[in-house]
Amino acid sequence: MQLFDEGLHSGVNLALSVDKVIYRDETGLQDLMIFENNTFGLVMSLDGAVQTTEKDEFIYHEMFVHVPLLAHGNVRRVLVIGGGDGGAARQLMKHQDIAVTLVDIDRSVIDLSKQYMPSVSGGAFDDPRLDLVIADGCRFVKETSDRWDVIIIDSTDPHGPGEVLYTAEFYADCKSCLADDGIIITQNGVPFVQETELRESYDRLGALFNDVTFYLAAIPSYVGGIMAFGWASNHPAHRNVSLATLAERYLASGIATDYYTPEVHKAAFALPLHIQKMLTREK
Ligand code: SAM
Repeated sequence: MQLFDEGLHSGVNLALSVDKVIYRDETGLQDLMIFENNTFGLVMSLDGAVQTTEKDEFIYHEMFVHVPLLAHGNVRRVLVIGGGDGGAARQLMKHQDIAVTLVDIDRSVIDLSKQYMPSVSGGAFDDPRLDLVIADGCRFVKETSDRWDVIIIDSTDPHGPGEVLYTAEFYADCKSCLADDGIIITQNGVPFVQETELRESYDRLGALFNDVTFYLAAIPSYVGGIMAFGWASNHPAHRNVSLATLAERYLASGIATDYYTPEVHKAAFALPLHIQKMLTREK
């Protein structure tokens, strides 16, 4: 039996059986593989790291999208940096009166996700409300004069083309194109095995925003335990929205979910002590 062996973190490997290789090639920017696994369904990896799987992507993409949008309550414009598999875009399209700009550096990810894993994007790339830009997200935010209510940084881990999407300079440029009451959300990895990335994002975002924290969700295909989404805003009221208000907004939105609930939303921000200590550098 062929194994997909992800060795992202020192001493920790994730092995998935490869029941069938659907696609495997260099895109010119990244090594892209799509394969079948009897537990996770179709799996996409980039440069040897699992990006998304058919069976558990709903957890990641629902929490990535509905937490900031329902917390904010009046989002009209969303910028997605990365997100080439289309999962975040599919969740975004569930919301009314929304315009999405999605900037991904690698068109092959979009094309191959649409072709081989259509359930992930669910037609979002063909929705007239979505404007697709093929570019380096770091350069895009530096050059744009547009502004967005929410910026979702759905990047690969800080290696290869994704590395620039974790820099202080990139975060500062994101702030420049964020509305004053806007929210930035990051894919910030698994704290137990990526403590350094967590702390660096916390420090770099903390230098720009007065409300910076993380919220958590367990993604079965992300090895090392619960994963963290970074949250940064200069409008603390968004994070402190009441459960009752969230429930009203969730009901009014009419969106269907399989993981997200208003209660899960609020609970996701409760950081366990060991993660709090990572941020304050307590031992
Ligand atoms: N869920 C995944 C995770 O947690 O790592 C992320 C999924 S998504 C496929 C990651 C996307 O980031 C890819 O489509 C990749 O092409 C894109 N990407 C990497 N570096 C980028 C950059 N500098 N600018 C824009 N997109 C980038």
